[in-house]
Amino acid sequence: MAVKTPYGPIQVPLSRGQGRTLSMAEASKIVVQYPWTELPPPGTSIEVMPGIHWVRLPLPFVLDHINVYLIEDGDGWTVIDTGLNREEVKDIWQQVFASICRGRPITRVIVTHFHPDHMGLGGWFAERWRTDLWMSTAEWLWSHYAFRAREKEMDAMLDFWRANGLGRETIDDMRGRGHFYPANVTRPPVRYRRMIEGDAIEINGMPWQVIVGRGHAPEHVCLYCEPLRLLLAGDQVLPRITTNVSVQFHEPDGDPLKLFLASTHLFAHCDPDTLVLCSHDRPFRRLHERLAQLREHHEVRLDDAAAACTAPRTPVDLMPVLFKRPLNLHQQSFAIGEAVAHCHWLLYEGRVDRILGQDGLYRFLRAE
Ligand SMILES: [Zn+2]
Repeated sequence: MAVKTPYGPIQVPLSRGQGRTLSMAEASKIVVQYPWTELPPPGTSIEVMPGIHWVRLPLPFVLDHINVYLIEDGDGWTVIDTGLNREEVKDIWQQVFASICRGRPITRVIVTHFHPDHMGLGGWFAERWRTDLWMSTAEWLWSHYAFRAREKEMDAMLDFWRANGLGRETIDDMRGRGHFYPANVTRPPVRYRRMIEGDAIEINGMPWQVIVGRGHAPEHVCLYCEPLRLLLAGDQVLPRITTNVSVQFHEPDGDPLKLFLASTHLFAHCDPDTLVLCSHDRPFRRLHERLAQLREHHEVRLDDAAAACTAPRTPVDLMPVLFKRPLNLHQQSFAIGEAVAHCHWLLYEGRVDRILGQDGLYRFLRAE
């Protein structure tokens, strides 16, 4: 019996059933075009357009960097995203303030979403420059929530992963990692400037349209400047790796993949030649080709996951089907959420049933 989706009115056009024979390799080949082959060295920038700078900050993961952007804005600068709260990241910012900013102040900080690599130094910026932090409401609230989450939330997260098939040993390892968010994020400011879908924000006399993406974070802000044909995409659209789309413990019946795939259609009006200023890898062109590829990529994975459910499978059983490479602990914490996301999409489409076993584990089985 089909289960009702949690987000009723959202329609997701997919190309399923049109005789597609795309392989995983085809779904992940590079379709974008990178205008830059080089990367900005630490503490310096590449000017992607006059007055618009691309800076890379280090991250201590396999994904070893985040891109942040600075836009010259009247007498000051607007910063988009901030990096983790680490001394080496602050040192790089000090270099940037002294060199790229030429002594002019940061007058606005925009954070695309609450994740630690984006929000990490949001509070530090707001305090140091006595300036407003601009976020969507959900992201600002989430940064406060994640900053304060402790044992109860950790227990709930590990219970959720256990119910989806994660073994005792990995659970214990994950508990041992502690509370990542407050360890890497400065205290979120007590006030913020709200960004709402459809707003036009003026930066240096240019209008930037707020587009709110879903699926990766609750209300991820992207900004599109039509006259400049620029899209600040954050993590919502990435050129090579795919954006993490995870079911999480606080919304255990969620269908974030539906939200993410629906969000790929929010950029339909963007110019075909748009330069996408993304948070990871390098700025790229061919946005629409990439969005189509992302839809195909998930369809392939959904088909693979459904095909593997000929016997009841937990999401963890499906991880090797969805991820062909070995995963470290940090990557597993993303992969399990993604595996559940694919199972839930199939569940709400009526392609699999969910069975709660006597062992307390959820398993998914192809629907007849
Ligand atoms: Zn993110």
